[in-house]
Amino acid sequence: MPELSLVVPVFNEHESLSLLFDAICKSLNPLKRAWEVIFVDDGSRDETPQVLAGLFKQDPLHVRVIRFRRNFGQTAAIAAGIDHARGEVIILLDADLQNDPADIPAMLKKLDEGYDVVSGWRRNRKDSWISRTLPSTLANGLISLVTGVHLHDFGCTLKAYRRDVLEGFRLYGEMHRFIPVFADSVGARITEMEVTHHPRLHGRGKYGLERTFKVLLDLFTVKFLISFANKPIYLFGGAGAGLALLGALDLVYLFARRILQDILPNTTLLFFGIILFIIGFQSILLGLIAELLVRTYHESQQKPTYRVREVLEANEKKQ
Ligand code: UDP
Ligand code: MG
Repeated sequence: MPELSLVVPVFNEHESLSLLFDAICKSLNPLKRAWEVIFVDDGSRDETPQVLAGLFKQDPLHVRVIRFRRNFGQTAAIAAGIDHARGEVIILLDADLQNDPADIPAMLKKLDEGYDVVSGWRRNRKDSWISRTLPSTLANGLISLVTGVHLHDFGCTLKAYRRDVLEGFRLYGEMHRFIPVFADSVGARITEMEVTHHPRLHGRGKYGLERTFKVLLDLFTVKFLISFANKPIYLFGGAGAGLALLGALDLVYLFARRILQDILPNTTLLFFGIILFIIGFQSILLGLIAELLVRTYHESQQKPTYRVREVLEANEKKQ
């Protein structure tokens, strides 16, 4: 059984794959740990399938290949790789030779120090400043602020994880960059490490600026999931009660003026009060429905609402 599983999402990268595999072998073989690399071919339309089949033939003990029927995206490819990984340690990296497998031994050392997640940081990033580095710096700052997980480089694929912090959640959209946030929410110990970054030499980058917008939208979902997924009534009920209360105060004020001073209510304020009250009340009801959904989610899949790091107890089993 391999101890280390490398997961590599691949979309149209045939020129890079053999060089990447050589670099992986060079970096991992001296470690004397059993390893595997899982290449997930995300519906490539170039020579990638043939090259991967060649690598598998060359070294079937280390190489595993999963081939998607069509292009499902980098996040789906990473998710499939994690699902198939057998190692206790799972390391993600890009296929385009921008990440350097030579960084892996140092990351493993950090894991051995007791961390659950080692996050690569492309401090010296070799990508276009306007379309990549700048938007990514802003996005990283915002993600750190909103999630409370302070990392410089969520977008760097090269990261190492202990398997148990990856269990229990599914990845959607562009969400692989939020894996450290989910890991943090189950109590993972996270550290950061500077890694080498190379310019892309072969093939083309797969993304444009629109990725930043998708990441920002995902951030809403992630924040909701980590803060309220177990207790949605706190969000919906809190906001709803606030709005309903504001509406009620407004209506009471209008009513009092009508009774005490015989002044006809101002129609703007009247509408305002009624609308706020209705929206607030609806939001509380939504919160209750969300509470039902949470119960269905956890109980239909026997998902616990907690995670145990370790248990100390006398072994009561008779031998
Ligand atoms: N990738 C993928 N599916 C996609 C797009 C990209 O598997 O739909 C892979 C790609 O082959 C590469 C990695 O994801 O290994 C990162 O892609 P890219 O280098 O274009 O992005 P960047 O370096 O800008 O993060
Ligand atoms: Mg790249």
